[in-house]
Amino acid sequence: MNYDVLYNAKLQYEHRVIVKGDSYEYTGQSLFDAAQNDHIKIKARQRRVALLYFDKHQLIRMITACWYKNIEIVLINNRLTPHEIEQQLKSIQCNQLYTDQQSLKMTDEIEINRLNIIETYPKYRVDHYDDQGDYVDPKDSRINKRITTISEQNIKECDAISTIMFTSGTTGRAKAVPQRVKNHYFSAIQCQEVFDYTVGDYWINMMPLYHVSGLSILIRSLISGIQCIIIDKFSICALHQVMLNLDNENNGNNKMNENKLNQNHHRLFISCVPKMIQEIFSADFKLLKTFDGILVGGASLNRQLIEQCIHQNIPIYHSYGMTETCSQFITANIDALQINPNTVGDLDHDLKHRVLIQERDEEGIGALWIKGDNVIDRYLNISEKMNDEIFNEGWFNTGDLAKVIDDQYLIIADRRKDLIISGGENIYPKEIEAVLDRHPNVLESAVIGKANQEWGARPVAYIVLKDQTIDFSDIEHELKRLVVAKLSKYKHPDQYIMIDELPRNQTGKVTKYMLQEDGTS
Ligand code: ATP
Ligand code: MG
Repeated sequence: MNYDVLYNAKLQYEHRVIVKGDSYEYTGQSLFDAAQNDHIKIKARQRRVALLYFDKHQLIRMITACWYKNIEIVLINNRLTPHEIEQQLKSIQCNQLYTDQQSLKMTDEIEINRLNIIETYPKYRVDHYDDQGDYVDPKDSRINKRITTISEQNIKECDAISTIMFTSGTTGRAKAVPQRVKNHYFSAIQCQEVFDYTVGDYWINMMPLYHVSGLSILIRSLISGIQCIIIDKFSICALHQVMLNLDNENNGNNKMNENKLNQNHHRLFISCVPKMIQEIFSADFKLLKTFDGILVGGASLNRQLIEQCIHQNIPIYHSYGMTETCSQFITANIDALQINPNTVGDLDHDLKHRVLIQERDEEGIGALWIKGDNVIDRYLNISEKMNDEIFNEGWFNTGDLAKVIDDQYLIIADRRKDLIISGGENIYPKEIEAVLDRHPNVLESAVIGKANQEWGARPVAYIVLKDQTIDFSDIEHELKRLVVAKLSKYKHPDQYIMIDELPRNQTGKVTKYMLQEDGTS
């Protein structure tokens, strides 16, 4: 069934470029041909294989080869330690791992069946082999024997696992998420409804492909024919280079079609995590104006930054999503953000029926449950009993706390695990952080609850300063004043601790459990 998505790309986007890196590019046809060529490298009859790659080009080739064979792919984060990789693979009974040369070194200590694919791929390879590995003439009818057309109905019924990804591990042990073909498909369709992109439009992909933010862009390309431009590693410089190449390409096209100017104007989108857009904004905010849409998600976005983007006419979209929803679940466009800069989206008619907020407190904040065709139905590495608590009759408990305002706008308050219950009162760390971040010398902050005999828990604030040479006791004094002016007394942090930087995982999220383990206080 993965095959059908790939085949869809071949049929519909045969001559169009749909994936492009710095030294390679694929059309629907050539990507399919590559998959057909590469699939024999994956030994027959494996149900599930893990891919650990640094080289994104090789990873794309392996992903499509696995899809061609309808094999379940386990995508492994290349920043993990060998021990963590081993734990993850064991937890889902996966005993085949493919690597490139760079990651091969990391796997020395792993006791599983290791297979490495370490070739470099030329731009187009169109050799055909059959399932036995015999060469097949491209004109041979066998190549086209498995023709299927993708239809919404047959995809909806498709429960085959396409990929298995692990959550980012922000709150502790990462959960194994089985993403089915239908989950990916409907996630892509929903994204198309939000951005209204069309064949040939560009989407710059600088996110890791082992994370759903990166993989989902590749899938959108296969399903909708947009051009996925891969940047190996995010930097402002790499981004400038891509923009320059696109400029040249489009000017070239326009010269060839002088009487058809504008026909070649493809729209340009990009996905970022909050830290990236913050960095681009500080370095070169004009660059952000060249996009037709900037999708930011994965963690909450600083309110001041949203306001600055609105002010500068930067087309920002703030989304809420997770590995379990195969990319964004809901997305706030500029209209919604103008009305409420804290929202992650307008619950239109459709989404109203897919969001439930349970056990609300007096502020209306409660546990966020969601459902939809892009939402997974269980984890692979937790007990059935735990799965039954999290997944219930099509609903999924996200582990996040949220509220709806004006019966319309969804606001994410915090993670359930980060909530501080102090003397029976709920304290949401994000609310305190938003106040602390207003101080002109605060770069960022993180508030956590520390155990307290009298109250159960009390908030403690960790502060990163913009200028770390300034005397922290002065800043602390000012922060206390700010907090007194803005927050009720029970929310005032007991302690302010200066640190050089906040601990983060590879997706740029602050790993608060590491602050808990930190003995600073
Ligand atoms: P783990 O589940 O292992 O602790 P994780 O939840 O960070 O890791 P992801 O699936 O990458 O793993 O991230 C999803 C989470 O990110 C959401 O559940 C939510 O807590 C947070 N998140 C995503 N988008 C937003 C947003 N716009 N605002 C606030 N939080 C967000
Ligand atoms: Mg999570």
